[in-house]
Amino acid sequence: MTSLPTNPDVVVIGAGAAGIAAARRLTAAGVAPLVVEARGRPGGRAFTRVDDVPAPIDLGAEWMHSADRNVLVPLARALGFTVEEDEPTWGGHFGPGFSDADRADFRAASARFWDAADAAADGPDRPAAELLQVGCRWNGLIQAVSTYYNGVELERVSTADLGRYEDTRVNWRVREGYGAVIARAAEGLPIAFDCPAVAIDHSGAGVRVETARGSVTTKACIVAAPVSLIAAGALSFSPALPDKSAAAALLPLGLADKIFFEIEGPTDLPAGAHLFGALDRKEAISFEIRPRGAPLIAGFVGGAFARALEAAGTAAAEAEARRQLAAMLGARSIPALRLIAATRWDRDPFARGAYSHALPGAGAARDVLAAPVADRLFFAGEACSRRRFSTVHGAWETGEAAAEAACVALKRPNVII
Ligand SMILES: Cc1cc2nc3c(=O)[nH]c(=O)nc-3n(C[C@H](O)[C@H](O)[C@H](O)COP(=O)(O)OP(=O)(O)OC[C@H]3O[C@@H](n4cnc5c(N)ncnc54)[C@H](O)[C@@H]3O)c2cc1C
Repeated sequence: MTSLPTNPDVVVIGAGAAGIAAARRLTAAGVAPLVVEARGRPGGRAFTRVDDVPAPIDLGAEWMHSADRNVLVPLARALGFTVEEDEPTWGGHFGPGFSDADRADFRAASARFWDAADAAADGPDRPAAELLQVGCRWNGLIQAVSTYYNGVELERVSTADLGRYEDTRVNWRVREGYGAVIARAAEGLPIAFDCPAVAIDHSGAGVRVETARGSVTTKACIVAAPVSLIAAGALSFSPALPDKSAAAALLPLGLADKIFFEIEGPTDLPAGAHLFGALDRKEAISFEIRPRGAPLIAGFVGGAFARALEAAGTAAAEAEARRQLAAMLGARSIPALRLIAATRWDRDPFARGAYSHALPGAGAARDVLAAPVADRLFFAGEACSRRRFSTVHGAWETGEAAAEAACVALKRPNVII
C-alpha cells in the first residue's frame, strides 16, 4: 500500500458526491486536495452496478430529483451521459384493488398531506404524522411512501425539516446510472482509497487527520463522510465538538433498501409499470416492473420494514418480495425470477443508513452540522443541506460550498464563487 501524499492544502474525508464536488472545486481554484476514502471505490451511496446484470442498476441513488434545477443534470450531460426525462410511474399501481377511483382518492389524500406539510413548515416543529388525516384509508400507503421518501415513518420526521425540502416534482434518470456519473466525475482526482479516517486533531494551527494508512497534516479539512459516522463517534475530533455530535444525533439516517430480480424468459408484464406490494399498510415494497424495458423487477423498501428485512437476512427479504409480488400479480403470471442484488445499507459500515431526516423539534440541526469550525474544519454531505438534504445534488452543492469556504479561509485569490 502506498503512503499518503504529504502536505495537501485541504484533506477531504469521503469520496461521495459531496467530497468529489469539493475536490473538483478546490482543484479548479488551484488548491491541492487529497481525498481519503474508506471504500475501494468513489460514489458512496451513489453506486451503479454493471457486472452480471442485464442493464445498469443503481444500488443507491437513482433519481435526479428536482431535475429541472438539479446541478448534476448539466454535468451528467457534459460528461456524455444520457439523461432520460421520462416521468416516474410511482403513483400508479398495476395490479388489483386499485380502481381509477381509488387512484384518484389516493392522489387526493396524498395531496392533502403534502399541502398540510407545506403549511406546517413555518409553524411549531412537530412530528409529521400529526398531519395525517385521522381515519383516512390511505394513511398506511402514505406512511409507506414516507418510508421511501424519508427513510422513516412520519412519527420521526420534523415538520420544519420536511416543509423546507425543495421538491419541484421533476424526476429524471441517467440511462447509464446515477452512480456512474459520480464515479466519472471523480476520475483524475487525488483519492486515497481503502483509507478510512478515524480521528481529526484540530488543536493546532492546521489539522492532522489520522487514517488507517497513516496520518496527514493539512491546512484545512472538509468532513464529507455520512453524518451517521459522526453520530456514532467513528470519526473523533480533538478537541471534541459536542455541538456537532448533538446535531448529528438529531439527524439520523433513515433506511431504504433495494432488491433486484432478473426476469428469465418471456413475460407479458408491461414495461415501466409500478406496483405496490400492499395497498393497506406501510409494510409495502414499491416495485418497478421492467424499468426502461429491461428484463428486471426492482423493489424499493424503507423505514422499519426495511430494517426488519435487513435483520431477517437476504433470503427472507427475497421471500417477502416474491410473496408481495405473488399476492398482487397472482403466482401464475409471475415469470421466472433470479435474485441479482439486495442492498443492506444499514449494515454498510461506511454509510450506516440511507439518507438523513431531522427528528421532530430538530429543524435547526442541519445548520449546526454545516457550520465551519475555526476556519479550518468544514462540513459537507447531504445532511448539511438545508433544502436538498437526502439527495445527491444536495450533497454535491454542500461540497462545493465547503470548498469555496475553505478557499476563502486559505485566502486564495482565484477562488471561484
Ligand atoms: C437506497 C438508496 C436510494 C437513494 N435514492 C436516491 C435518489 O433516487 N436520488 C437522490 O438524489 N438520492 C438518493 N439517495 C441518497 C443519496 O445517495 C445520498 O444523499 C448521497 O449520495 C449522499 O452523498 P454524500 O456525499 O453526502 O455521502 P456518501 O455518498 O455516503 O459519501 C460519503 C463517503 O464517505 C466515505 N466514508 C465513510 N466513512 C469514512 C471515513 N471514516 N473515512 C473516509 N471516508 C469515509 C464513504 O465510503 C462514502 O464514499 C439514495 C440513497 C440510498 C441508500
